[in-house]
Amino acid sequence: MGSDCHSRARGILLGLACGDALGRPVEFQGPERIERTHGRVTEMLAHGTHGQPAGTITDDTEMALCIARSLAEYDTFEPEDVAARFVDWKQSGPFDIGIMTSSALQRIQNGESWDEAGQREWEASMEGSNAGNGSLMRCAPYAIAYRNDPAELVEISRQSSAITHADLRCQWSCALFNRTLANLMTDVERPLETVLDDIGSKLPDDVRNVVEPVTAARRGEPVDISLENSGYVVTTLQTGLYHGLTAETAEDAIVDAVMMGGDTDTIGAVTGAVAGARFGAGALPERWRTAIDEADELRRLATDLIER
Ligand SMILES: [Mg+2]
Repeated sequence: MGSDCHSRARGILLGLACGDALGRPVEFQGPERIERTHGRVTEMLAHGTHGQPAGTITDDTEMALCIARSLAEYDTFEPEDVAARFVDWKQSGPFDIGIMTSSALQRIQNGESWDEAGQREWEASMEGSNAGNGSLMRCAPYAIAYRNDPAELVEISRQSSAITHADLRCQWSCALFNRTLANLMTDVERPLETVLDDIGSKLPDDVRNVVEPVTAARRGEPVDISLENSGYVVTTLQTGLYHGLTAETAEDAIVDAVMMGGDTDTIGAVTGAVAGARFGAGALPERWRTAIDEADELRRLATDLIER
């Protein structure tokens, strides 16, 4: 495991941040409107959705930072600490926070334990609004820290999801995603397919069904992945894996994902983590990396998590 693994780890965190920041200004817009207004979004744009300067990250990277900082400090998964960092972040008044995340963290603020809050919030939520992508978007740091322990990586990914997103589709999307990232980091051939061989039978049907077209595309078969990216965890998972694993370059992967419209910051972030793991940090456009204020800390944390 040489410098390549380090570059892939930095690529995961920087790719996540780049995709998040690239997608932020056009969040909630449909693909036609993005195309009409901006053409192809290849530059960090200022203003737009949430009205922020160019290169501004959102909750996706902020929450991944909470996880990475906790892992770096404790050298292990401390769910109570991760939950406490999420609550502190929520209390800082972020301009972007998911509904389920906000409600579950409010429960923790009100005294519920980290492992009850997400479950109770899930029980109180309706089908259709109970399986968002709010835990998938932040989970990548675990893949770096637990890349050599697949069983533990699955368990931790699921538990961390459940702090705010207890739905099994969310838990297993995080587990599948992180196992794929870990395989990319450690140069496993067929990084997605080997995960399906191993845990495919445990996945909820909705998760397995969206991943199937991605593996078909990787075999060279024509597929349709034009699902609406409304924030449902499985469509985000599909979009991220598809563009991240099939594009020719890291830049194309992230731009193609953002151009699909909808929840563009999160599909950009999830795609960016995959593309960064696959191509390494140096393959992310330098003009993007320099636009991210948090880039140095993300690089430092990637090294810390590799060496834990
Ligand atoms: Mg966001």
